[in-house]
Amino acid sequence: MTDAKPRSLYVHVPFCRTICAYCDFRRYVYRSEAADAWLKAVEKELQAREVFHPETIYIGGGTPSALNDDQLETLLSLLDPFAEEVKEYTAEVNPETVREGLAERLARHSVNRISAGFQSSSKRLLKLMNRHHTEKDMERLFASFHQAGITNISLDLMYSLPSQTSSELQEAVETAVSYGPTHLSLYSLTIEENSVFGKKGLKPCDEDTEADMYEWIAERLRQCGYRQYEVSSFEREGHSSLHNCNVWNYHDFAGIGYGAWGMEQGIRYTHSETLKGYLQDPLYHKDVNLSEREQMFESLMMGLRLVEGLDRRLFLERFDQDPVSVYPSCMERFRKEGLMDWNEERVFCTGKGYMIMNNLLEEILEEADL
Ligand code: SF4
Repeated sequence: MTDAKPRSLYVHVPFCRTICAYCDFRRYVYRSEAADAWLKAVEKELQAREVFHPETIYIGGGTPSALNDDQLETLLSLLDPFAEEVKEYTAEVNPETVREGLAERLARHSVNRISAGFQSSSKRLLKLMNRHHTEKDMERLFASFHQAGITNISLDLMYSLPSQTSSELQEAVETAVSYGPTHLSLYSLTIEENSVFGKKGLKPCDEDTEADMYEWIAERLRQCGYRQYEVSSFEREGHSSLHNCNVWNYHDFAGIGYGAWGMEQGIRYTHSETLKGYLQDPLYHKDVNLSEREQMFESLMMGLRLVEGLDRRLFLERFDQDPVSVYPSCMERFRKEGLMDWNEERVFCTGKGYMIMNNLLEEILEEADL
């Protein structure tokens, strides 16, 4: 069983004012004419869909706030009909693009959550990453969104950066927490071949340092009153990301715009490989039909990311099978070894299992024989 209508809607804005040195996403340096053409294509794509009312909308990128005011107004207006019953409506914002009227504009169109790229407080590391915000930009971001009534603000924080010292990391965490975000997402740097870092041959920290950094951040955030609810996500109570939880609970979501992918009725789709291709045919989807066994494995893989684990009843409802009996050999063994456990509602990794989840998933994948 799959959802009749997607529970979430994701829109990808493929423009940024500058390109970060670690970035390998689908994005272009912002040019007004290209953004105008992209908006027309998005309009066509949205018009071709029957309006539905998702629980969550997420405008990501790229940098949505890289669009100019008129373009942002057009995009938000196109999304208004979809936002009538929205519970959580997130827009990604880069701190240096915050300007007069931005927060009010987003709030007027029902946006009630901001995800901002903070990454680090170190001027040296920000420069290395080609990121341009200042402490003042961060303060302005929080002040302006709070004033507009949007108090649910998440910060992205990166670690394992090339040559990052423990004091730079600690200062970044303390500074991030001092702004009072309701949520933090942690990202360990991976160096992609096509990024500037990759081309320069830079390396992240070694694996042990990376693991130590993660442990230190997680512990510090817990001390500061944040609850970890997913591998890389921490919340102040009641502020977990509903949009991401829908994805981790394997609910369908629609993906709109060049660079977005979606998952509906067992089909995972992307758009054209190039922006030019997307502008020519915004309705083109490259589909991957997932078999039921593939969907079962993906659902388990996503669900286990959550600290509370996979929703066992939802899995049973969807696939007519109990996750514990789909992979009996691994499940029993992991339970005996104290790595996984389950109750009537959830299948979850124990603290010990959570640390080596990828290894557990590899073994389950082998048993799934996909
Ligand atoms: S803001 Fe995000 S999408 Fe844009 S260049 Fe930086 S990492 Fe890439």
